[in-house]
Amino acid sequence: MDKKLENELFNTYPILFKNAVKPKSERSNFPDPISLYGIQCGDGWYSIIKQYADLIEKTVNSHPKRPNVHATQVKQKWGNLRIYTDKSPEIVYGATLMIQNISEYICESCGECDFNSDRENKVNKGLCSECSPPTNY
Ligand SMILES: [Zn+2]
Repeated sequence: MDKKLENELFNTYPILFKNAVKPKSERSNFPDPISLYGIQCGDGWYSIIKQYADLIEKTVNSHPKRPNVHATQVKQKWGNLRIYTDKSPEIVYGATLMIQNISEYICESCGECDFNSDRENKVNKGLCSECSPPTNY
């Protein structure tokens, strides 16, 4: 993801993305992928990640026990957006599954909705028909 967009997410949602901006000196010997690689998907998913982060931070802030939930990895896998967190209370688990399913219909590159594409048969399953490179085999 574009560094400017990524930093916008990290700065707006400091709880969820705490591990992403942790200084090197505070990292463990086995740092989370997000602290090493940032957000590993295209800019097209910026908006849905933002919606997800917004929901998680509001939920965490209003919860009596304030369970701090931190993203450990955000990436594209098999055409879906995968967000992994260190803790997974029910609301986070539900939101994570939901965003994973929604991402299947949003192009990872351009962000357009693409309900009609048959992504099962594509090499890069995160892309819409317009953004997919043509297959010559
Ligand atoms: Zn596209």
